[in-house]
Amino acid sequence: MVRLRGHHLICLQFYRGEGYSKDFVENLYRVLEKAKSEGVEVVEGEDDVCIACPYNRNGICTHSDEANREIRRLDELAIRLLSTPLNSKVEWGSVGSVRDVLAVWKKEACKGCDWRGVCKI
Ligand code: SF4
Repeated sequence: MVRLRGHHLICLQFYRGEGYSKDFVENLYRVLEKAKSEGVEVVEGEDDVCIACPYNRNGICTHSDEANREIRRLDELAIRLLSTPLNSKVEWGSVGSVRDVLAVWKKEACKGCDWRGVCKI
């Protein structure tokens, strides 16, 4: 079972192989495969994607000055929209309700995201 924070439950549905480094991308593919076969535990803060990220400093997201606060806001929003509380365990396929929440997600989360150019949402 993989550990994923809230916003990764949504954003990874649209992952297309880009990333911050070779290690980050390779880890992300492993995480996705494991999520599909073993399921996901919803966690707060640093998750199995963050552990291979060059912006992760002791569990804090340093992608930008405001990143850690903004990422936590997005985690909370994703968890609320998907009705997947912290510590719950979900099948990757059952996060399919993502499609139902995309209108709100695009409005609240996608604006200003650095990944917009590579995301097909
Ligand atoms: S940018 Fe921040 S939230 Fe995204 S994977 Fe890296 S540490 Fe985690």
